[in-house]
Amino acid sequence: MLSILTRSIRKILIGEKQDFTFYSMKGNEIELGELNKTDLYIHIPFCKSMCPYCPYNRIRYERSKVKPYLDAILKEIALYGEKLGKINIGSIYIGGGTPTNLIDELAIILESINEAFNVKGNISIETSVYDINETNVRKLKEMGVSQISIGVQSFDDRFLKLLGRNYKAEDIIPAIKTVKTGGFKSINIDLMFALPGQKIEDLWNDLKKAIELNIDQITAYPLFTFPYSTVGKYRGIKQLKMPNFMIRRKMYYTIYDYLESRGYNRVSVWGFKKGASPEYSSVTREKYLGFGAGAATYTNNLFYFNTFSVEQYCKTLSEEESPISVSMKVGEKLSNYYWLYWRLYEGEFSTADFKRKFSRDKKLQTILKIMQIWGLIEKKNEIFSLTRRGAFWIHLAQNHFMLDYINKVWTVSMNEPWPKRIEI
Ligand code: SF4
Repeated sequence: MLSILTRSIRKILIGEKQDFTFYSMKGNEIELGELNKTDLYIHIPFCKSMCPYCPYNRIRYERSKVKPYLDAILKEIALYGEKLGKINIGSIYIGGGTPTNLIDELAIILESINEAFNVKGNISIETSVYDINETNVRKLKEMGVSQISIGVQSFDDRFLKLLGRNYKAEDIIPAIKTVKTGGFKSINIDLMFALPGQKIEDLWNDLKKAIELNIDQITAYPLFTFPYSTVGKYRGIKQLKMPNFMIRRKMYYTIYDYLESRGYNRVSVWGFKKGASPEYSSVTREKYLGFGAGAATYTNNLFYFNTFSVEQYCKTLSEEESPISVSMKVGEKLSNYYWLYWRLYEGEFSTADFKRKFSRDKKLQTILKIMQIWGLIEKKNEIFSLTRRGAFWIHLAQNHFMLDYINKVWTVSMNEPWPKRIEI
């Protein structure tokens, strides 16, 4: 039902010309065209605990798999280095999986990126409470990591257990204290809400504890409900009683109001930051190259994914072949909507940018007016900003529409290393 609605909306807005199908790229090289500057994403899929809700491309950590993976990533970096030359890299984001499982290999990967490209910006990394210790913090600093995000998720052992996390609530505060000794430019913690069985009081407790940590940024996101998920154990969680719409909305506004009242400003629909530290963000970059199994690349109107299979990713690169599995061409209109989606996610955009991209798009101009009338968006000093209410609805849209697309690609790709086509 939702899928039909999504398709109808996109047909009205983007038109019939855009083909929403990813086609197989097995055995083909990608022609990236000219590129002077981009951001980089590096995917490290190894995890020591396999959280049942997790939708990401991850495999259980096994030492024997690390070396082939490192070799493959180094080959991929070299391949792009040869293709693109020493282009500028605006920022590097290392995600997973749990990247710090490969802490020593990460130093080698970053060294090779520095040799192949001209790295200018911040290096950000995700890690988990379990992986934080003085040695890892020192190593991260030495390799140039400047922003760090810790998946705390909850301060309540009941929910940590439900989420399959491999640490206890009592481990969190010492871990954060250790990270703080690293002098990173910004520290983010992730919290989860709308968990099965979670009550408003439980959320309050988590928020209070998060505030006491005096952290730069808090990102609170809901347990996603992936409509097409066939990702094994997730089904188990789906059968548990999830908070209904009203509770979920109350939870979102509780987070919003509480963090704002404690001096945090909204920097995205889920992220709240205080002080002058730079914003920690994983998803809002305009162009990026992705390295690693299942990594996505979006650049020069091409959107593509590497094979999700770690084994196939290593194999193809060891045979000097491309690991890219599927790609989709992104027309100008979709590219503009993609831009707008992420600006809405960030919570604001300038009227000048909007005019530049959508001056001929009467339908979208009307939608923007309707959003203003409904109080979802407001215009101040030539900036459109999401209101508190608007942020809630964009958060819902994020959950239902965008993840709907992502999930189709991920679900197929996790089951087939080389899909022939994926219609979204
Ligand atoms: S640690 Fe993170 S990436 Fe790994 S399984 Fe858990 S949620 Fe997924």
